[in-house]
Amino acid sequence: MSKIVNCPCGATVRAETDDELISQVQTHAREIHDGMVISREQALEMAKPEA
Ligand SMILES: [Zn+2]
Repeated sequence: MSKIVNCPCGATVRAETDDELISQVQTHAREIHDGMVISREQALEMAKPEA
């Protein structure tokens, strides 16, 4: 099942696996949010199953 993260900036990150989602959320945070660091736990907390 896909998971998505709706970032407060309006971006949506979507991935098929937890590892991929975490990596994409971390890359998004680093590139779009000025080097912001997000842990695995934080990324998973933000994630929701895609309806
Ligand atoms: Zn964002």
